[in-house]
Amino acid sequence: MNQPAVVQFALKERSVEMREAPIPEPSPRSVIIKVAAAGICGTDVHQYLNEHSWPINVPVIMGHEFSGVIYEMGSEVRNFAPGDRVVCETSAVVCGDCDYCRTGRYQFCAHRKSFGQMLDGGFTKYVEVPSHCLHRVPKNLPLRYAALTEPMCVSYNAAVAHAGIHPGKNVAILGCGAVGLMCVQLAKMQGADPIILTGLERDKKRLEVGRKMGATHIVAVDKENLLSVIHQIHDGLGIDVIIDLSGRNLSLRDAIHIVRPEGKIVRAGWGPGAYNFSLDPLVHKGVCLQGVFSHNWEIWEKSLKLLASGRIDLSPLNVLRLPLDRWQEGFEGMCDARLIKVVLEPNGEIEE
Ligand SMILES: [Zn+2]
Ligand SMILES: [Zn+2]
Repeated sequence: MNQPAVVQFALKERSVEMREAPIPEPSPRSVIIKVAAAGICGTDVHQYLNEHSWPINVPVIMGHEFSGVIYEMGSEVRNFAPGDRVVCETSAVVCGDCDYCRTGRYQFCAHRKSFGQMLDGGFTKYVEVPSHCLHRVPKNLPLRYAALTEPMCVSYNAAVAHAGIHPGKNVAILGCGAVGLMCVQLAKMQGADPIILTGLERDKKRLEVGRKMGATHIVAVDKENLLSVIHQIHDGLGIDVIIDLSGRNLSLRDAIHIVRPEGKIVRAGWGPGAYNFSLDPLVHKGVCLQGVFSHNWEIWEKSLKLLASGRIDLSPLNVLRLPLDRWQEGFEGMCDARLIKVVLEPNGEIEE
């Protein structure tokens, strides 16, 4: 039996199309998820535009942010049952034996393979998932929001686990996609003040949403001079913590300019281009530059808790729900920043 799927078939710009793919069968330790919602991520947009820094095993069904219900289970799967509401981590394959796997930091496993890149992902009706990737979705969290747990985990890892935000610290968040907007809420929750959110002029709508979510200053960096805005804040000496999510290399240059001596830059966005600027100010200002990659079990559980409690409110993101066959509309809307977040619903509405 076949099913429709959004497939990246080559490493060239816009080499994505709808294809037929076989409906998978579970192996002993995996389950088949009937996909409820699958988020289009900035990562998917990078792949769509062929501007990515990670290996892709084409052809591959895209999508790594998905929620759903368990449809079928392998014979050795314990603790779950058909019909359970679940979300799925991105680290689909890890070795389980190396130092990083044994210490729960498996996102750094040299053998890691993730959905939608090396393995078939969730832009289809049914997806096979190893049971170790599953998390239960709390009852009061709709599956369409549960699909956003993955970007929430990226935000949590950057803004909570690594940023070192304390009450009263200045925080700047560079990039106003869904991850940036969730970082605004997390920074506010931790007592950051002021909170500066940056984007481009075309991101106006996203920046305004950021203001509603807690940003005290919003700056379109292609229109306003970021440095002069920063000079007018507090004592003018710069920003304590910068979370760089834009996925553009020039944003790191901005970060280096606006960071306060002994401040911290947490960089979670990435792209393959060259860096044509000096890193000397990092040394001169004694700045810490921290890379942040992916997430692990603990971050997933904490993020689900925050989403279910409503302390992180996703409603201002105005998530657009589209059927699978309108995937291209979602991708293009994310490319030019008209949309903040899109989820594809390959099986129509399976709850509510
Ligand atoms: Zn993602
Ligand atoms: Zn490993």
